[in-house]
Amino acid sequence: MAPDPGADRLVIRNVEFIGGMAEKHGWRPESSLPEVAFAGRSNVGKSSLLNTLVRRKSFARVSKTPGRTREINFFRINNNFVLVDLPGYGYARISKEKQAGWRPMIESYFRRTTQLRGIVLLLDIRRDPSEDDRAMLDFLAELQVPAIVALTKADKLTKAGARERAAEISRTLALEPDQVIQFSAQSGEGRVELLSAITQLVDKLP
Ligand code: GDP
Repeated sequence: MAPDPGADRLVIRNVEFIGGMAEKHGWRPESSLPEVAFAGRSNVGKSSLLNTLVRRKSFARVSKTPGRTREINFFRINNNFVLVDLPGYGYARISKEKQAGWRPMIESYFRRTTQLRGIVLLLDIRRDPSEDDRAMLDFLAELQVPAIVALTKADKLTKAGARERAAEISRTLALEPDQVIQFSAQSGEGRVELLSAITQLVDKLP
């Protein structure tokens, strides 16, 4: 079989940690490459999804370093785009004070970036979207940032159950079918689809 000429674009060959933004007016890298950001509530499966996507041990080490979990972390991928890992939000086990910290940080990132091509918002396929999830989508719509929704932990449902939940979440959030990707870090389902959607965002002219 002839190799798919588009497939090479989906191979992550090089991952380089550029640094973290620790406070709202803090350091962030110069933006010259397109950026794609990843957001979702804590425990949604963001680290697992990013590790599945990137497949680098060094990547997993950085994102789990204590202190880094509250930062916005920037990774250069293939010298082609910058992956922006936003802090997880709104988890009951995190104190109210720490929960309140994510919003100004994330808003500051969105207001300061000039190269953002899109965001991947992660939602647990089994849960109804939270107020914070809706606020994030509203905020992105206001900024006119394209959003892809990755429905995580799809392996926890049957195929039919997952399809039903995907349709329900799409309906409640008024999402287009091609915005929604079912994902499982456990089975790898959705990895190629998500990489392909990210590649399209990166390749699209601003
Ligand atoms: P984060 O806080 O958003 O970075 O979430 P993690 O990636 O640390 O995952 C939170 C929990 O969900 C962990 O116990 C993971 O093992 C589990 N998890 C994450 N992704 C999946 C998945 O695709 N399938 C299943 N079954 N569990 C998952």
